[in-house]
Formats: sequence, structure tokens, C-alpha cells
Amino acid sequence: MSATGGPHRHALVIGAGLAGAGVCAQLARKGWRITLLDGANGPALGASALPVGMLSPHVTRTPTPLSRLSALGMQATLAELQRLVPQGRGWQACMVDNLGHDYGRWPAALVRPGALVQAWLEEAASRVSPRWQARVARLERTASGLWRALSSAGELLAEAPVAVVAAAHGSHALLTQASGLMEAEHLPLRPVKGQMSLAALEGAPLAERPQRDSGVFVPLYEDSGLPPAWPARLWAMGSTYTRGDSSIHLTAEAHEANAKSLQAVCPPAAEELRRLQASGELLGWAQVRCASLDRLPMVGAVPDAEALRLRMLQAGSRRGRATLEETPRLPGLYLLSALGSRGITLAHLCAGWLAAQIEGEAVLAERDLLAALDPARFAWRQARRQP
Ligand SMILES: Cc1cc2nc3c(=O)[nH]c(=O)nc-3n(C[C@H](O)[C@H](O)[C@H](O)COP(=O)(O)OP(=O)(O)OC[C@H]3O[C@@H](n4cnc5c(N)ncnc54)[C@H](O)[C@@H]3O)c2cc1C
Repeated sequence: MSATGGPHRHALVIGAGLAGAGVCAQLARKGWRITLLDGANGPALGASALPVGMLSPHVTRTPTPLSRLSALGMQATLAELQRLVPQGRGWQACMVDNLGHDYGRWPAALVRPGALVQAWLEEAASRVSPRWQARVARLERTASGLWRALSSAGELLAEAPVAVVAAAHGSHALLTQASGLMEAEHLPLRPVKGQMSLAALEGAPLAERPQRDSGVFVPLYEDSGLPPAWPARLWAMGSTYTRGDSSIHLTAEAHEANAKSLQAVCPPAAEELRRLQASGELLGWAQVRCASLDRLPMVGAVPDAEALRLRMLQAGSRRGRATLEETPRLPGLYLLSALGSRGITLAHLCAGWLAAQIEGEAVLAERDLLAALDPARFAWRQARRQP
């Protein structure tokens, strides 16, 4: 059992998308009580409101951290979907044709993340107390070792010995600005806007299966649980990738960029996209992904930069040998963010690893991958470089 969890094992989780709901589910299974805070009116209303996305491997000639993570994440998430969400009400298994890099046909699934978030929160309902419209402006630690989440008016939203920040790009402002718990360069998170173009599918689909080149063309997605804003039978093309943009309004330029990408994989579908855009029938969805500088998620205990700096100074000439594992941490504070374009594939796996760390269990497998995701990696590298 974790030292910070104590006998009552209560955690605050900030953010109710794939990351935060995944952590709630995993901690609840271990017997924790969770207070879930989100600034929105309900769960999965940020990037995880994606109407349909792809659960897929990331195949590379030689394994990379991302390809290994994706392979593990795909297997684990598929099992989770099969266990919790009926096919046709939030996901459907498929094959995808990769036409550019990773050329080939791979098993995949089309997934509406909100369905998985809902299923996780329903499963954990007896242990999770959600609070909506609860935007956290500041996090601070009391002398008695509790993390307190405060609103912009200074109101106490919740407190617990353990806090997990799973607020996607909102994690940056929360940890670096008002709370001052991390330095901005130690948490290099970037917003990346994406826009998807979609429409009701009236007749037969224009391709047999999803096609991926620059973007993914989904010729048919059927989901009886889709919110009323979307047709229950649709086709989609997406998504654009605009680094540094955190706006969420739809633009004609982004629809045209999707049409151009679609032209390369299915010209008749590109023609249909442009026709629907001209007639005003095209639908769209835009949101912001959160990506780190090295494009890997950030999963684990938040570093204590000041203690790290002092330790490096004391280590003097031995600093080159100081390991990432030895980096001092802020007790009870954890991060799960930067899921980038792969939240569907990676959230469940990363949440499982994080919950094991919080519980104080040794995660023996894939230790090098865990180190690659460590939220202390940027602070540690910088401290090693400094004279
Ligand atoms: C256009 C587009 C297409 C995509 N396609 C795919 C795909 O095909 N496959 C795939 O795997 N992934 C895809 N993704 C990425 C996927 O949607 C994300 O990786 C995933 O949803 C991220 O989950 P999250 O929980 O980290 O973030 P979010 O779902 O954004 O959740 C963060 C939550 O934190 C809350 N929050 C933020 N700040 C605060 C605060 N201060 N206080 C309280 N609450 C706060 C927000 O309200 C939000 O609910 C796509 C994303 C986009 C935008």
C-alpha cells in the first residue's frame, strides 16, 4: 500500500476524459475512493468527446517506445471494450488499410471514447464522487500532507492525500502557473488542434474498410449510442493536426485539408465531402489534443524540481550517474497527460501503470517504457546538463 494513500485511500482525480476516467476505474478496482473533478458539465466533453476514432497498432520496422506501447495498449483496450461496451453501442472491430508508412492491413477498432469513459465511470460508480463544473485553478499541499484543489475564487473543491492531474493540456496551466509546482520547461505540453469532417451515410459506403494515409477515412461507423448531435450511421475523415492551436471552432480550411487528404485515398469520397461542404450539409468536430515534446505520454509521480536541483548540486561530479528513478518527487502528486493522437490506444494501459505506482506496487514488466513516460524526464535531463 502506498505511504501517501493511508488507511482511507482517497484520491482526487482532475479531468474526466479517457485519462481521468481510466485512472478512476483502475483505482476503484484496488479499493480506492475517488473524488473526480472536471470543469465541464459532465464526463468526456474535451478531446474524449471524439465521435469516432481509431484503436490501432503503430507499426514500425524496428520497435520504438510508441510502437511497443501501442501494441500493449491495443490488446488491453480491446479486452476492456469487449468486457464493458457492447459492439455497435460505442465501438466496432474492423481492419484498417495503411497506405502510407506502416504499409499493410492491420486489425483495429473504431471507438467512440465517450462510451468507454461512461462504462468506466458506471463500473466504478460506488467509489467515485464526480463534481462537474469544478474547474481547478490551483493545487496546494497542506502541512498535514493533503492536496487541496481550489477554484479561481479560492473555494475548496476537494482535498485528499493523493491527487492525479489528468487534465490534458489544462495540466500545464494547473501545474506550472497558479500552483507553481513545476517549471514550464519541465512540462513541455503542446496543444494540437484537430478537425474531423463527417456526414450521415445514406447509401453504401465508399470503401470496404477504413483507410489511413495522412488522416483516416472511416467509410462507415454505426453506433446506436451516439449523442443526438450525430447521425447513428456516418462516415468520417480526419483529422487535421495544427500544433500550437488551442481553439475549437470549425473552419472551411480544415474541411478542405481533410478533402485533400481524402483525395489521395478515395477520390469519390473527397468529391462527396466537397459537395456536402458546398451544400452546407457537412458536419464537423474540432478539439485539442495534448502532446509532449517527445510525443510520449507523461505518466507517473510529479518531480520535485527544487529538491532535484539541490541533490544534483550535492552530487557534484557524480551527477552524470544520478538516475531518473532517484529523482525526488512531490509526495502524492501524479500526472497522466499527453496522450496525443493515441488516447484510445494508450489511456487504459497508462492508467493501469499509474494506479499500480500509486498503490505502491512494483511494476516489473516494461520498466524501460515506464522510464520513457516518466513525467520527471525533462526536469532530470535539464538538471544533468546544468553546470
Ligand atoms: C480531431 C481528433 C481526432 C482524434 N483521433 C483519435 C484517434 O483516431 N485515435 C486515438 O486514439 N485518439 C484520437 N484522438 C486523441 C484522443 O481524443 C485523446 O488522446 C484523448 O481523448 C485524450 O484524453 P484525455 O483524458 O487526456 O483528455 P480530454 O478528453 O481532453 O480530458 C481532459 C479533461 O480535463 C478537464 N480539465 C482541463 N483542465 C481542467 C481544470 N483545470 N480543472 C478541471 N478539469 C479540467 C477538461 O474539461 C476535460 O474534460 C483525437 C483527438 C482529436 C482532437
